[in-house]
Amino acid sequence: MSLLAVNNLHVSYGPVQALRGVNLNVEAGSIVSIIGANGAGKTTLLNTLSGIVKPKSGSILFRGTSLPERACKIIREGIAHVPEGRKIFPGFTIEENLLAGAYIVDDKQLVDERRDAMYARFPILAERTHQQAGTLSGGEQQMLAIARGLMSDPGLILLDEPSLGLAPLVVKAVFELVREIRDRSGKTILLVEQNAKKALALCDYAYVLENGVIVLEGKGDELLSNPAIRKAYLGAE
Ligand code: ATP
Repeated sequence: MSLLAVNNLHVSYGPVQALRGVNLNVEAGSIVSIIGANGAGKTTLLNTLSGIVKPKSGSILFRGTSLPERACKIIREGIAHVPEGRKIFPGFTIEENLLAGAYIVDDKQLVDERRDAMYARFPILAERTHQQAGTLSGGEQQMLAIARGLMSDPGLILLDEPSLGLAPLVVKAVFELVREIRDRSGKTILLVEQNAKKALALCDYAYVLENGVIVLEGKGDELLSNPAIRKAYLGAE
């Protein structure tokens, strides 16, 4: 059974039809990528899954049952959203940002354990617990955003453009981190990326979104060698 099954999803912003009948499946323990150009509807898809945007029609099943409508309930079901542009709280400390990710967890000891686990995993954050998060570099802010997402111990992580605006070496580190989160923690990841080459190389399965419609899907390595994808998304002749 799929961990996540999206069926015939339609989303509109007034007259703008951002998603027009999207179907997709995410198997537990996999990394699934959505690639597509600017405005294809990638962020809208993730925002709908996490309850920020309300669908016009269609169904979203998580672990076989319909998701609640409200974002604060969806995170309790086990879906964490690491949004485009990181959206860390710049005036809060690193520790406060991390704790914000665990606002649904009442057990203080559990929160402390998870925070310590994040510091062990991300030493760069551990060295700066009381520093304002806005002073971190872009790559460090992305690490913090991902760590904050992990604080709720989600079954599914929605990652929106984690490589956006980062230097190539940092991009490499972010993609390695995504792989490690899946390999070491068994998390399932739905990754939206404009960096199609890296996303396809990393993922198990991918969907290509164009103007709100899935136009192609397949295993990451198959799409990487698909001539149409190479031409449209990988800059090949
Ligand atoms: P990008 O990579 O540039 O973020 P995207 O693939 O994530 O693009 P979306 O941001 O989901 O695409 O946008 C899909 C379509 O919906 C676009 O035509 C966009 O202009 C429109 N759109 C997105 N958000 C809104 C909004 N709040 N109000 C009106 N239209 C919107």
